[in-house]
Amino acid sequence: MNRAREDLRAYLVGGGIASLAAAVYLIRDGGVPGRNITIVEESPRLGGSLDAGGSPEHGYSMRGSRMYGAAYTLMYELLSGIPSLDDPHRSVTRDTLDFWETAPWEAKARLVEDGKIVDTSSFGLREKDQADLIGLMLRDEAALGAKRIDECFDEAFFRTNFWFMWSSMFGFGTWHSAVELRRYFLRFLRLFPDLASLRLIQSTRYNGYDSIVKPMARWLEAQGVVFEVGARVTDLEFSGSGDRKAVRRISCLHEGRPSDFDVRENDVVIVTLGSMTAESSWGSMTTAPVLNRGRHDGAWALWERLAEKDPAFGRPRTFCGNIDLTKWVTFTVTHSDGRFFRRMEAFSANPPGCGGLVTLKTSSWLLTFHLYHPPAYAEAPEGTFVWWGYGLFPDRIGDFVQKKMSACIGEEILVEVFSHLGFQDDLGALVRGARCIPCMLPYTTSQFMPRAAGDRPQVVPAGVVNLAFVGQYCEIPDDVVYTVEYSVHSALLAVTSLLGLEAKLPPTYRGLDHPKALVGAIRTILR
Ligand SMILES: Cc1cc2nc3c(=O)[nH]c(=O)nc-3n(C[C@H](O)[C@H](O)[C@H](O)COP(=O)(O)OP(=O)(O)OC[C@H]3O[C@@H](n4cnc5c(N)ncnc54)[C@H](O)[C@@H]3O)c2cc1C
Repeated sequence: MNRAREDLRAYLVGGGIASLAAAVYLIRDGGVPGRNITIVEESPRLGGSLDAGGSPEHGYSMRGSRMYGAAYTLMYELLSGIPSLDDPHRSVTRDTLDFWETAPWEAKARLVEDGKIVDTSSFGLREKDQADLIGLMLRDEAALGAKRIDECFDEAFFRTNFWFMWSSMFGFGTWHSAVELRRYFLRFLRLFPDLASLRLIQSTRYNGYDSIVKPMARWLEAQGVVFEVGARVTDLEFSGSGDRKAVRRISCLHEGRPSDFDVRENDVVIVTLGSMTAESSWGSMTTAPVLNRGRHDGAWALWERLAEKDPAFGRPRTFCGNIDLTKWVTFTVTHSDGRFFRRMEAFSANPPGCGGLVTLKTSSWLLTFHLYHPPAYAEAPEGTFVWWGYGLFPDRIGDFVQKKMSACIGEEILVEVFSHLGFQDDLGALVRGARCIPCMLPYTTSQFMPRAAGDRPQVVPAGVVNLAFVGQYCEIPDDVVYTVEYSVHSALLAVTSLLGLEAKLPPTYRGLDHPKALVGAIRTILR
């Protein structure tokens, strides 16, 4: 083994998928012994945004649910070496693709309006919308700068089937970054013909925590990786100056007590910047979640502290500076009877777990949900049914519940969803059998905020020899945020660069380089 690697220590700040991926790459590609790697995570559990918890009695809960697909080349490559939760001889990747084959999505009720399924065979775009859409794909990123999406389209565009399906699927608001939307169009160009059916979308067998985080954590633990949970990093200290600095200390509070790490120049420090799930809070059937406007978690506080030290470390306020434009309410619902799932199956003609997303087009909150293929949790008893949803406009008043979604208790969210579906005849029984846990996420779409060059730091910032930034807020050309793939990509770039490894990176998929996909997309747009 390379002596330098054997001696090298790696400190990974944050225990989300970006850090877990970086740890795998350090061991697998870099030959760094697992015992030399420390992951510092402030919450009691690993996984970050990729979380899921709860119980059948009290209700399951997860802040987010996940869709994947062929564009996730790095994630699938990474997970092809990690044994799945249930079978040590089958990788997480194999397990996910096998599951996709047995329970593929084929949405038959992608959009619902006043309790009726909408015909989505056409995107409903006018000629001007079609030209604007294709025009945005062909624009230069630098020329778009920090433009908002609504500066690139007419108002009518935002009332088309296309926009309802695209924005609800990926979480875009009209005020978000046009540059990011353009990247999405190109990165997911293959999806255009199947935007309504969601046929190409893949999901893991269980929720993301059970199917991805647990197996990765188990693998890393077996390699000897040290997990410091309940430890918040508050600052990094540097030695040197100008274009040759090095992290020399990581300031850390472990359960409130100082617990710093001294770092040598030939060690590496990999920091997950910011977090889309920081400051989140839970409600219940009878309580609404609280909107945290302050700094209780370490993610944004650390980036803000670092940004004061060096302009190369980016500008966090661009992303975390306006939570009224970045917040969402999500909710997880658990039933111990099949009433709602049976009703949905009759309504949509989709077996549970195969219908993909359902967006309630006329709902003021713009509600979207999907039913998990049971069991959604590896440990869930038979006869437990879980679904998950979100509202893109949590501050609008509901159509059946005269309240903002952000102020609603779980029961009220259910009343709104069931009423939009036209299930009022059975409302009482449907609500009685459910436990709905809402979650307030102040920063969920923060990574989509309009940005200018320099707002996001490079993965390896200039002038620092032993530091890299990973996660959703560093700059990776062509790739798209709000994806696990982006965090994995950042981890691979960080490790490859810091360890001086030969880059094995396939080029990021760009639709414009793939004529077949381009023609397919344009045909669908013009339909
Ligand atoms: C509602 C929702 C839906 C989503 N849907 C999809 C989807 O369909 N497909 C998809 O690919 N992705 C989806 N995502 C995005 C995906 O989950 C995230 O991009 C990914 O999990 C981010 O991982 P990360 O490790 O970069 O950051 P995070 O998961 O945010 O992890 C950062 C971790 O670092 C810790 N931390 C931060 N600062 C400190 C500090 N100073 N000290 C100690 N610890 C610290 C935090 O506690 C956290 O655990 C979704 C996310 C959400 C919220």
